[in-house]
Amino acid sequence: MSSKQYVAVTYDVCKVENLFEDMNHYQLEPSINMDEQVNQYAKQDIAPVVRVYEKRNANQTSNLYKEYHFKEYDCSCSSEI
Ligand SMILES: [Zn+2]
Repeated sequence: MSSKQYVAVTYDVCKVENLFEDMNHYQLEPSINMDEQVNQYAKQDIAPVVRVYEKRNANQTSNLYKEYHFKEYDCSCSSEI
């Protein structure tokens, strides 16, 4: 099988605390729409940023494929300033 694999990583971001931390890694299902899966994981983890990395094979480092931003999941403390 030569099909590309994609891994979604959810990030916890706080501009106030200068935080940018990865939370969870998810193997994406190639038969399901990528946006749908990313939306679901962002909602599940309340992640304002989700990055999708492309994995060509197990021994290679992943390349950033796409970055998603979800303003609705931005941490609440930034709005209080
Ligand atoms: Zn914050």
